Amino acid sequence: MRKKYDVVVVGAGPIGSYTAYQLADKGFDVCLLDEKENIGEDVICAGVIGKDAFKRYDLPSKSILSRIDSATFISPSGQRLEYEPQDVFAYVLSRNILDKGILKLAKKIGADVILKQKVKDIKENSGYYTIVCNKKKYHAKTVVLATGINYELHSKIGMSKPPKFLYGSQIEIPISFSQSNIQIHIGHKFVPGSFGWVIPAGDNSSRIGVIVNRKGRIWLERMLEQRLNFSVKKLNKDELKLKPIAYGPIKKSVKGNILAIGEAAGQVKTTTGGAIFYGLLCSEIAVDKLSKTIKNGCSLNDYELAWRSALASELDIGKRLRKIALTLDDEKIEKLFTFVKKNRFWVQLLVPRIDFDYHSNLIFFCLKSFGSLMKIPKRW
Ligand SMILES: Cc1cc2nc3c(=O)[nH]c(=O)nc-3n(C[C@H](O)[C@H](O)[C@H](O)COP(=O)(O)OP(=O)(O)OC[C@H]3O[C@@H](n4cnc5c(N)ncnc54)[C@H](O)[C@@H]3O)c2cc1C
Repeated sequence: MRKKYDVVVVGAGPIGSYTAYQLADKGFDVCLLDEKENIGEDVICAGVIGKDAFKRYDLPSKSILSRIDSATFISPSGQRLEYEPQDVFAYVLSRNILDKGILKLAKKIGADVILKQKVKDIKENSGYYTIVCNKKKYHAKTVVLATGINYELHSKIGMSKPPKFLYGSQIEIPISFSQSNIQIHIGHKFVPGSFGWVIPAGDNSSRIGVIVNRKGRIWLERMLEQRLNFSVKKLNKDELKLKPIAYGPIKKSVKGNILAIGEAAGQVKTTTGGAIFYGLLCSEIAVDKLSKTIKNGCSLNDYELAWRSALASELDIGKRLRKIALTLDDEKIEKLFTFVKKNRFWVQLLVPRIDFDYHSNLIFFCLKSFGSLMKIPKRW
């Protein structure tokens, strides 16, 4: 008799592995497949995650490289605004240790982890799915697509891709700018309509990156040279990594008893490109809905409704902010920095609205408060 799993999860990134872990923990028969042999290696990611997210989920604490207790926002001309809360508010993680750690949890709790298995197709036959790999086939009642930015299976089963992509470019260099501070660089000269970062990554090294609409590597080189006075000639260009980042959710994340999750569903912050927390949050929702589908045959459509009601407005407001940011020239950005620095009470009004994972409250407040100063049209 061929084995039929309750769930086959395709993709052992953090979101796929965490979903497999939770499902196996609930006693379901789970198989986790990934085309890679070495999970967590060569991942392009800044690895920043909010402290609360780390508390909420069983993430391996060994993956923490740095504890972040302040952020400095830097204007095009170099004006600085400091955010210094009382305590650590985020961590910088080693994706290698994080991804391997979550995979290990899934395996330990009983999921069948099978690597070097590229899933080529998914076929439905009499209420079950056949997951087709190069040489093997797997069978399951339900399927989770956690394939990151690989959307090949989506088109095979009739799901769409995200509407658009941003591009993240990053390099890790053996220089320490700070042990616990994140720098956020803003301005058209370096990162048009977006931002660049300098992040401490433990062991005297830093991650420097940008997230932009296009030409990621070129903007990163510009930031390194003109902003950080770092000669790009000293670098091996292959170390300037580039990766698309889903910008906006896919149209439908459920098809029969198949669901998409994490970056595969476009569950990515439209403000910063951060995806781990939103993916984990949706993984919690997915596990609840999948349990009901497997046990009682309930429709998976509830998954779609639940995650969108949790995140849709955040994703939407982030997109609006990006649209506005593209219209702000460096002069307007300088004006805002000067205004807030001169009128320090604004800092007291802004700080309580800062949340690492939910940005809409702060965005609404800023647009209302500074809209006329920045000449932002009233109907944004
Ligand atoms: C420059 C940059 C910086 C970033 N910084 C941050 C950050 O600071 N914080 C944050 O939260 N997020 C950040 N992100 C986003 C984050 O890295 C990703 O969105 C995250 O890895 C998504 O996790 P995932 O599990 O959904 O997908 P992935 O981590 O991409 O995992 C997908 C897995 O699926 C496997 N797979 C794909 N297709 C198949 C197939 N057909 N068969 C078998 N296996 C398959 C892949 O091998 C892979 O292992 C950043 C992204 C970039 C580009």
